Amino acid sequence: MVNTVKTHEHNCNESLREIKATPDARYHFRDSGLPNVYLAGIRYFVCGVCKKIVKVEIPAIEELMGAIASAIVTKTSPMAGVEVQFLRKRLGIKATDFAAMIDASPEQLSRWENGHNALSGSMDRYIRIAYTFISRDERLRALMEKVKHQFVQWSTSIHGAGANECIFAERLHNQKWRAEAAPVAA
Ligand SMILES: [Zn+2]
Repeated sequence: MVNTVKTHEHNCNESLREIKATPDARYHFRDSGLPNVYLAGIRYFVCGVCKKIVKVEIPAIEELMGAIASAIVTKTSPMAGVEVQFLRKRLGIKATDFAAMIDASPEQLSRWENGHNALSGSMDRYIRIAYTFISRDERLRALMEKVKHQFVQWSTSIHGAGANECIFAERLHNQKWRAEAAPVAA
């Protein structure tokens, strides 16, 4: 029988250090379901010994997820596959059902969502409109109004590649989440 001696054992909870996430020192929100979401205006706790993140306080997470979805729908760069998947999951619609809704095959949708194939520009716009209508999200009402009156302007505003872009969400002093597509912080 091997007797293991743990010389560096410690309890992370005994040396917690509070850190406030700010626009300049953002918290990488890996549990968002997207690879590139960063938060400010929240606090989290790291172990002072091993630096591991032990606890994160994210208030109003449902509102935050809605704000992230709105940021995706209103951004001017094309949507990435994972963002399409994020929107679909927000709506709680199964892939096969969503594919049928947008007149695509489940295989096509799967290839878009996993990034194997790029979305066409028209499918990108169609999915944004579908999300806006199905979600009935208040934040997107403004977009609906804008699209209603300035469809060409909106439709032609979506361009570029969206590389070096992230979703940045900030918890404001009025206790609301504001999220937008933003350049990746240096
Ligand atoms: Zn530790």
